[in-house]
Amino acid sequence: MTGTPDLEKLRAELDDIDRHLVELIARRLETVTAVGEAKANSSAPVRDIERERAVLEAVEAVARQHGVSGDLVRRVFREIIEHAVDRQSADLMPTSAQVVTVAFPGADHSYSHLAAIKHVAGRGEKASYTGHKSYADVVAALESGRCDLAVLPIEDTTAGSINQVYDLLQHRDVAVVGEETWRVDYCLAAVAELPLGALTHVLTDPRGLEQCGAFLRTLSGAVAVHNADGGEAMRAVAERADPLYAAIGSPEAADAHGLVVLRTGIADAAETYARFVVLAARPIDVDARVPSKTSLVLTTRHEEGALLRCLEILAGSGHSLTKLESRPRAGRPFEYLFFIDFEGNVADPRTQLMLDELRSAALYVKVLGSYPAKVTRIDPQPGEVPQASATEALEAVVVAPPAPAGRRPKRLVDRDARAEDTVVRVGDLLVGGTGFVVMAGPCSVESAEQVRATARAVRDAGAHMLRGGVFKPRTSPYAFQGLGWDGLELLAAAGREVGLPIVTEVMAVEQVARMARTADLLQVGARNMQNFDLLRALGKVDRPILLKRGLSSTIDEWLAAAEYVLSAGNQQVILCERGIRTFESATRNTLDLSAVPVLHERTHLPVIVDPSHGTGNRRYVAPMSRAARSVGSHGLLIEVHPQPDTALSDADQSLDHAQFAALMASLAR
Ligand code: PEP
Ligand code: MN
Repeated sequence: MTGTPDLEKLRAELDDIDRHLVELIARRLETVTAVGEAKANSSAPVRDIERERAVLEAVEAVARQHGVSGDLVRRVFREIIEHAVDRQSADLMPTSAQVVTVAFPGADHSYSHLAAIKHVAGRGEKASYTGHKSYADVVAALESGRCDLAVLPIEDTTAGSINQVYDLLQHRDVAVVGEETWRVDYCLAAVAELPLGALTHVLTDPRGLEQCGAFLRTLSGAVAVHNADGGEAMRAVAERADPLYAAIGSPEAADAHGLVVLRTGIADAAETYARFVVLAARPIDVDARVPSKTSLVLTTRHEEGALLRCLEILAGSGHSLTKLESRPRAGRPFEYLFFIDFEGNVADPRTQLMLDELRSAALYVKVLGSYPAKVTRIDPQPGEVPQASATEALEAVVVAPPAPAGRRPKRLVDRDARAEDTVVRVGDLLVGGTGFVVMAGPCSVESAEQVRATARAVRDAGAHMLRGGVFKPRTSPYAFQGLGWDGLELLAAAGREVGLPIVTEVMAVEQVARMARTADLLQVGARNMQNFDLLRALGKVDRPILLKRGLSSTIDEWLAAAEYVLSAGNQQVILCERGIRTFESATRNTLDLSAVPVLHERTHLPVIVDPSHGTGNRRYVAPMSRAARSVGSHGLLIEVHPQPDTALSDADQSLDHAQFAALMASLAR
């Protein structure tokens, strides 16, 4: 008898208890899987908040009976339940038998890499991982099909949102298919144990520098050296093999490079969690029983209280908001786009109804995708009011009848979907409502001199916008096809010089993104009115669209074409009557002015008239312009050329500068 406890024996006992704990967790998980299977054929949601609350309360009571901290047990069980929900959700999601390829930013063992590994493990899949230099490179790898998934950090609980990633979500055509969290644990590591005061260099990435500021200041003898990311810093220190060099990064990276951890927990904040988005080329379908979230980008209308109205639509339909972030709107100083995450699933009919309502209240809505939620508000603390509404909402999701396939309750273009007139903003100009706007310029941009001369002339005569075709939909392949992107530069330069926004035709899906960066208004020509792929692509950009009526289209077909753009998210559509094919041959087309009052009855979208193509003859342009205004058109689209007879396209119908000035004067009278 020594009197001191047998340490070895006690440790062995602890090891035994730990093994039991893990075995019990494993048994619990097996039962969880069995529960999942039992529920698999029912419509019961995976997450049952009432049941979770009851479980937490029960274990807490047991803990208290044994004199153990209720809070500790609650926290442990919260993690266990969280894991169980993830496991049941993953079992309801399709998994790939193939090795999934995943792109992430940074070097191996960066936080993004660690989050990617955690995410793939949660899905029960196998993966290969490739690090990339920048966030943009990661997205490019996804777009070019070099990987199946991409993982990018989007926010952390200390430093906030990562703007670059939000901007990529705004501009690139990728879908959000998941989210992941990671507890960011910064450590300092070196090749050998050494007193911290002896260090001469500390390698760190900008985030490490930002988040471990207080600790770094205590290392007064060392200089901080910037590195691209923590994994990279650890690798550099390992390669250098100089004990006076240390790196800041994850303990996992230190371990992987065989470094000695000198200090852990060196971040200023006690706990920092990073949240990551998982991206794929296409959105996924999420089972209705899986607790899910949806992300979208939204631009509000230029109306008082517009953002509030959108948030009310979300809240009023039982979709709780989990994140709201604003970013500058491209090309629109001091205007903002909003990124919204909410609890809900686009496959759910109630969410679809809410999104329809949101689309008609907003200017532009781009749904980025629905995905299984990893960050939710479970676990109400003791004393908190039970969130019964959340359970009810989930159950209602399951019992709500599915929407009839292929039919929406109502169309977004229709007058009864929106009481107010839609006013579309182009540059600083408002189209629709009570104003009358004139867009004028050459049929085709032919040269810098030509477009500059006409730009000045139409501006001086009072036009509000400069038009000019650069990709021309010509009936004959041998006719002038336009100057293409060079022409767009000439048009944009002329517009800037005279201070007018520009409108030009976009002919193909591949042109949309580039065109949207430069043109203020994107025209869809008559020949493309039913190019549905083009319409859908235009529905995904935050730019106003000028949709011309097809050569032989009915008003209803035209509205259905506009619906393609609206239903894809973009509500900023202006309709343009440009004449239709009839038996009459005295004019190039028959300008259907009765379409204007008919449209005012049927849709809230603004309508303008193009008497140049509508008649094909410059002598009829002025009288039909005046008639268009009389019947309630919101504006005109007119072709003007310095020397119409030499024009490379539509010479007969183009006005010269003096004729255009005379028309504007007659409209002013
Ligand atoms: C144009 O505006 O130059 C044009 C080609 O118009 P539309 O598509 O109406 O023929
Ligand atoms: Mn033309």
